[in-house]
Amino acid sequence: MKVAVIGAGPAGVRAVEQLLRAGIEPTWIEEAPDGGGRIYQRPPAGFTRGHRALYGADARRARALHAALDALKPRTDWRPGTLVWNIRPREGALDTLANGGTRGELRYDALILCTGAMDRVVPIPGWTLPGVTTLGAAQIALKAQGVAIGARPVFVGTGPLLWLAALQYAKAGAAPALVLDTTPFLTKLLASAGLLWNAPTFLRGLRYMASLRARRVHIAEDATPLAIEGEGAATALRWRDSGWREHVTPCDAVALGWGLKPEAQLADLAGVPFRFDATQRNWIPERDAAGRTPAPGVYLAGDGAGIGGAEVAELSGARAALALLEDRRRGFDHSLRAHLDRRLRTEARFRAALERAFPFPAHLAARMPDETILCRCEAVTAGELRAAAREGAPEVNRAKALSRVGMGRCQGRVCGPPAAEVLADALGVTIEQAGRLRGQPPVKPLPMPVVA
Ligand SMILES: Cc1cc2nc3c(=O)[nH]c(=O)nc-3n(C[C@H](O)[C@H](O)[C@H](O)COP(=O)(O)OP(=O)(O)OC[C@H]3O[C@@H](n4cnc5c(N)ncnc54)[C@H](O)[C@@H]3O)c2cc1C
Repeated sequence: MKVAVIGAGPAGVRAVEQLLRAGIEPTWIEEAPDGGGRIYQRPPAGFTRGHRALYGADARRARALHAALDALKPRTDWRPGTLVWNIRPREGALDTLANGGTRGELRYDALILCTGAMDRVVPIPGWTLPGVTTLGAAQIALKAQGVAIGARPVFVGTGPLLWLAALQYAKAGAAPALVLDTTPFLTKLLASAGLLWNAPTFLRGLRYMASLRARRVHIAEDATPLAIEGEGAATALRWRDSGWREHVTPCDAVALGWGLKPEAQLADLAGVPFRFDATQRNWIPERDAAGRTPAPGVYLAGDGAGIGGAEVAELSGARAALALLEDRRRGFDHSLRAHLDRRLRTEARFRAALERAFPFPAHLAARMPDETILCRCEAVTAGELRAAAREGAPEVNRAKALSRVGMGRCQGRVCGPPAAEVLADALGVTIEQAGRLRGQPPVKPLPMPVVA
């Protein structure tokens, strides 16, 4: 049986571990030069910052995952630096691009997709200025390269990553000029009972917040970012506090993000149907609790199957591999399956509370000013998308044809969700009715010689 595992983050590592335990040697494909995924991303060779400095409280887990990764790689057909850019489910084949230039094809009988997540952005005026990044990118700059995006950055958005990234910058010596959380303190407080489903993580989050306050970082909750200002680069954030007073905070960089969205384009190409998850306010691929999808032979795990965090990614990676073994009538550890199911049920409760604690500010996306560049690849403004709605676009794919939103390099990975919010608001329909941009190959841009 030919099994391919895509992604070598926490989910991919634990999936491969279970497959090997059952005697299956998968082909293991990873776009990055090495595994570890987003949270445990390794710095390039020659960088000397240790686990403690890189991963903080997650250092022990990072070390364990890296050790597992290194032990597993030689026992698989390990293909780092390789992008899967297309899946052809009828032929049981996927298309790859290795080291930025070599095209390849791989046949499979079963697939475990562990493709992770990416930042979710709400475009605000000025977000395309140099000096503005996503929260995740700001963190990766620090984690993977030991570089700060600025000496006085501003952090904008909501969710655990907002507070964590701000604290990591403060500890690295780049004190944030402002942490602007769009969520009111009370919303977080009301969700706190549910967060006790994972008390250690909850307490760690509280420590992050307390530590930022202790460092006297300016924190604004229930606040609204209005615009990033600057000539040629970001130099200030204009924002409104909960009492509707306007402020301008000088800065030299901005990191923004409102949680994560699944990187699920490969699931889409593999023929997995999607459903709208109102709690996460994300379109997520359909799967059961073990990671089985309605597409034959396709399994999903980790954040690519719906945002769950790193712990869930490890559990769900192992669980998807067990589901595959069970479906193929191979032997597997039944007590491990029961343990994983129990843990995943508990973690799902924690995640639901986390989503309530840091809700996506749909109103901010829906009401962005007309002149805001919504799709930066094609420079389409929110106003142009609203014009497409007036011309009769009933959902995002038609709006794409009329306005070019989502037609650029990112293939709608960044602008797709906010475009749906703007369109739904303009049409007076629900976000489900506004729909989602269909996945198209290549999932990421390919060099022209490769296409030719
Ligand atoms: C930028 C960023 C920063 C984060 N920082 C933190 C943090 O500090 N703390 C925390 O608790 N959580 C953090 N998270 C969330 C955390 O990373 C995830 O919960 C966890 O890593 C999920 O594990 P995973 O295995 O599902 O996915 P990931 O760890 O994202 O791994 C997915 C892997 O799949 C590979 N991949 C994706 N698509 C393809 C393709 N088409 N072809 C080949 N390979 C592919 C990617 O290169 C990646 O290595 C962060 C998330 C992001 C996006």
